[in-house]
Parts: sequence; C-alpha cells; structure tokens
Amino acid sequence: MRERPYKHALDLLQRAGLRPTKQRLALARFLFDGHDRHVTAEQLHARALEDRVSVSLATVYNTLHQFTRAGLLREVVVDANRSYFDTNTSEHHHFFHEKTGELQDIRDVVVANLPQPPAGARIARVDVVVRLDDTDESGDVVTHSGPADRADI
Ligand SMILES: [Zn+2]
Repeated sequence: MRERPYKHALDLLQRAGLRPTKQRLALARFLFDGHDRHVTAEQLHARALEDRVSVSLATVYNTLHQFTRAGLLREVVVDANRSYFDTNTSEHHHFFHEKTGELQDIRDVVVANLPQPPAGARIARVDVVVRLDDTDESGDVVTHSGPADRADI
C-alpha cells in the first residue's frame, strides 16, 4: 500500500465515488499513506505547497469536506475556528492539547452513562474531546510524551 501511494489514492477515490482530479489525488496521497493523521486544512495546504502542488486553501477545504462526506475522513471540531480531519474513521476519542494545538487519539475508552436521546432519536456517534491545558499543578507547562500516533504530515 505504501509503496504505491498513487495507486492507493486512486483506488480510494474511485471506491468513494469521487472523480480523481489531479488536486484530489495529490491531497489523497498526502493523507492516506498508511499513517493515522489529524490535519487541519491549513496544515494540508502548507504541505501541498511544499510539494509544489498548486492548490488554493479554499480547494483544500472543499476537498477535505468532500472526503469527509464520502467517509474517507472524520471531522473533529475542537472549536468554532478549528477543525481537524482524521484519517482514522473508526469511533475513538481525543485529547486536545490547547497549548500546542495537537490532537491525540484516546484508545479503548468507552463512554458510559450516556443520556437517553429524545423519543424517536438514537445516538449516531459519541465524540469526546478532552481538553488539556498542559500545565502541572504549579502552572508550569509540561511537554507530554504520549503515544506517537500522530505522524507529521
Ligand atoms: Zn483521531
């Protein structure tokens, strides 16, 4: 899979019913290389420019949302101004490091005591974002050394 990123990206787009445009293919190759990633549109845009892929930030946004609607990504909204796009679409939760802006997976957590949904509705998914201020009891900033499950893009 990783030795043929172009073919893999092409297969993913075709299976998702998305026309493999040059820009979609380029972005898909960055995103789906076998590593789990949490990326913002800005990070992906910067990565594309680094690689001399000519694409606007607006197109990156649109493409990320198309990938999300097609089930290739999961959007994790951390606040009104910031969304991450997660290549791991399975149900899982996140730590959000408010100081560094890093999103980190929390694995194997079951959220208990969920509220009863209103009559006629059912819970589709539970997304928990645990916000960390990354300071210790004295207020000093600590650097975490959690599982390295976020590969740099
Ligand atoms: Zn995640």
